[in-house]
Amino acid sequence: MNASSVGAEPSSEPTPLEVRIHRGAHEIGGNCVELRHGPDTLILDIGKPLTAAWGDVVPLPEAIGFDDNGARPLGVIISHGHQDHWGLAPQLPSDIPVFIGEGAADILRAAEFWGSGVDLHEAGHLHDRVPFTLGPFTITPYQADHSAYDAFSLLVEAGGRSLFYTGDIRGHGRKASAFEGLLTDPPSPVHTILMEGTSFRVPGTDPGTDPEPTEHLGCPETLTESEVEVELADTLKAMTGLVVVLGSAQNIDRLVTVYRAALRSDRDLVVDLYTADIAAATGRPSIPAVGDAWPRVHVFAPLRQRVRVKESGEFDRVERVKDRRLFAEQLRERAGELVLFGAYQGEIPSLIRDGLLAGGAVVWSMWDGYLGEPSGQRLQKVLQAANVPLIQHHTSGHATPADLVRLVDALKPEVVVSIHTEALDAYASAVGGVVQPHADGTWWTV
Ligand SMILES: [Zn+2]
Repeated sequence: MNASSVGAEPSSEPTPLEVRIHRGAHEIGGNCVELRHGPDTLILDIGKPLTAAWGDVVPLPEAIGFDDNGARPLGVIISHGHQDHWGLAPQLPSDIPVFIGEGAADILRAAEFWGSGVDLHEAGHLHDRVPFTLGPFTITPYQADHSAYDAFSLLVEAGGRSLFYTGDIRGHGRKASAFEGLLTDPPSPVHTILMEGTSFRVPGTDPGTDPEPTEHLGCPETLTESEVEVELADTLKAMTGLVVVLGSAQNIDRLVTVYRAALRSDRDLVVDLYTADIAAATGRPSIPAVGDAWPRVHVFAPLRQRVRVKESGEFDRVERVKDRRLFAEQLRERAGELVLFGAYQGEIPSLIRDGLLAGGAVVWSMWDGYLGEPSGQRLQKVLQAANVPLIQHHTSGHATPADLVRLVDALKPEVVVSIHTEALDAYASAVGGVVQPHADGTWWTV
């Protein structure tokens, strides 16, 4: 349908598709976008700012109609399972339907026991390039390559206009084919892209609060996940003792990377109870998990997790992995044949005390900014005192500026609106005159 033909009278204006960013126009994190078509509204992401701690209460954005007085949105679509995109969802009125990828929802449910997830009680799931409608809105999810599992970009069409919201996206992870597929077979027409810009930098500044920084435009240092795998394997081969890789269990790409690097160096993978639960929650047979199908995957439970299980009384959590459990004696006996991955940062002092890291190393496989935080500084001191090397192997969850420019070139929008960025000038100068920024809280038309 041609946009000019929408409406009761040929001479009347079509109902516009309007947008306002509630949070995220000028910051990385806390994404929340409201779409409006006539009396109907839709929410894309309902994130918590990265500056807020896990337990902090941040109010829902005002004026969305979440209170009892306003018109309720038809739904909340969550692009992926990072807290800066879903963190305020538990505060939503329960009658507003929530949609998210099934794997992402299952991971968050599995993470709830371990204090880093939630049951979203979602009303439906997103599927790659399968459109669905909510009132006047047609939503088509596009699988996105990102450091969160089961992530999507979202095409939203209403009244003959279309908005493509990237969510968080990259082109150098294990789902790079999804990114390339988007470039070669893009939705059309896309009138406006609402595009993340995490990797743009204010010249001459530090990476700031970015959880996953990347390098500058065209800079060759942005590694692919496959390159991280090769470099990590080299480290594992060079070490004679136990190697502990500290990373996010919910970064499934990285779990696969560490597993593959372990095999390349003829080591077995050992994960903590939380990581084991997350891997199982993907429901994907190709993801390394604890069980008969993966004889080279084992479990070593950190003290804090054992305490949590004991206090909860949910002993099935250790019972179901008992055939695969290793204990400190076995880590010592097989130190040079193993690599630990997951939530082991709190366990490092006791591993050192027990002599388990002799000839080994700790690998930092997260954003290096966390090393500057108090817990990261404590870790560095402990490792220095014990003469255990700390080695970094990581790549960002966010597209390089060069890949973002490729995305814009492929989708050929009339307008690009920035979100999830702290460097608007760098963003605009790289992407060009098509960029039209909008402040948080202001309405604009697609
Ligand atoms: Zn993300």
